[in-house]
Amino acid sequence: MKILLVEDSATLRHAHCSYIRSAGHTPIIAESGEQALQLVEKTPVDMVIMDVEMPGLDGFETTRLMREWLGKDWIPIIFVTGKSDDQSFRQGIDAGGDDYLIKPVSPVILGAKIKAMERIAEMRDQLRRLNAELETLSQRDALTQVYNRRSFDDLSQRQWLLANRRQEPLSVLMIDIDHFKLYNDFYGHPSGDTCLVEVAGAIQATLKRPSDILARYGGEEFIALLPDTDLAGTRQVADAVCMAIRDRGVSHQRSKTSRVVTASIGAACTTHFAGRSLQQLINAADKALYKSKQTGRNRATVEEFSPLKSLLVADNDRQTLNLLSRNLNGLCQIITAENGEECLDMAQSLLPDAILLDVNLPGMDGLAVCEQLKQVADTASIPIVLISTLKRAEQLRLGEQVGASDCLEKPLDGQQLKARLESHLGPL
Ligand code: GH3
Ligand code: MG
Ligand code: MG
Ligand code: MG
Repeated sequence: MKILLVEDSATLRHAHCSYIRSAGHTPIIAESGEQALQLVEKTPVDMVIMDVEMPGLDGFETTRLMREWLGKDWIPIIFVTGKSDDQSFRQGIDAGGDDYLIKPVSPVILGAKIKAMERIAEMRDQLRRLNAELETLSQRDALTQVYNRRSFDDLSQRQWLLANRRQEPLSVLMIDIDHFKLYNDFYGHPSGDTCLVEVAGAIQATLKRPSDILARYGGEEFIALLPDTDLAGTRQVADAVCMAIRDRGVSHQRSKTSRVVTASIGAACTTHFAGRSLQQLINAADKALYKSKQTGRNRATVEEFSPLKSLLVADNDRQTLNLLSRNLNGLCQIITAENGEECLDMAQSLLPDAILLDVNLPGMDGLAVCEQLKQVADTASIPIVLISTLKRAEQLRLGEQVGASDCLEKPLDGQQLKARLESHLGPL
């Protein structure tokens, strides 16, 4: 052990040093409390033998500061002092000392005390090792050694917050083994377990970044969180995982879709965090997984996660557009069209959740656009809210003729607009 000897008297330093050496340890010397603190900050030591009466910082104060610096890192500190009164003894223990010897000490006594403390230090090391093992065990799935669901929940939540702060994309992969019930039924549960280990290994080997988190999410379902990975990257990883599992070539005679064990993957990637939760991202990945199962298994479906409702606004009036962005930013995704024709095109290609349509548009007017959209099957069910400077009663009458769902008078009121949209779309 490296033992720090703090002693201002040269004679005693010399004597105690040789006692330490003859007990088989290496002394490191400090001539004052200040020097001792500097040394401890630079080099780790296993034990300290501390004088009390020293010029400058005394042994008690030095010990107190040392304990503060070491925090939870306990090392034995033994006082060796001429102060033999009860009061000083208590002060020493209170300051953080573990033992208290009165000078002069014999080499035998000092050697024995060092040995006793060494035993306690060994127990401390053992406890640390066990704690570390226990920590690992409690974080990992016993069968596959990937993270268990509980630690995934902790770790992923942290990554979600981090991605939000850094404004970096974040992806979730949901991986579910195909026809695994049939595998178990045919090969038996123990083989099923071996297969799970194989699949976990294939996934883990494909996830190359240390920041990627892989966990067993349920029986034969795994989940992976990929920080700082955009849609294209997610697609690459998801496809690679799918292939890696298949390429392990684990025979699956009962599978209805392949001759080897395969998995279906659903992935969702997000770049927007405000008003969203990690659980929503996971749900989106789950939905994508369902699509992979529906469309033949052994494949990955990767989607951009966008839970915001989309609102197509056909109006070229700046004032209205400003009001919309002030009141609806972050609550829904606003897409704008400049004129009637553009609105028709965008409505049919983007299928927004709702349309806000100015009656007086350049070119084709709002009423004609509304009428046409209501006649096309894909767009017929989209709620359309007419807006114009016309009185509400007049607008309602016109709206009814073309199948509009609602109308609002200009200038628009932000709160009213939001309430109206929510009455058609549910909470934004
Ligand atoms: P699909 O392709 O639709 O995902 O079909 P599937 O059979 O994989 O899905 P299902 O959810 O019907 O069955 C999952 C099976 O996974 C049920 C159970 O036999 C098996 N399973 C779940 N946990 C374990 C496990 O720890 N060990 C083993 N050996 N099998 C497990
Ligand atoms: Mg002294
Ligand atoms: Mg499943
Ligand atoms: Mg399955």
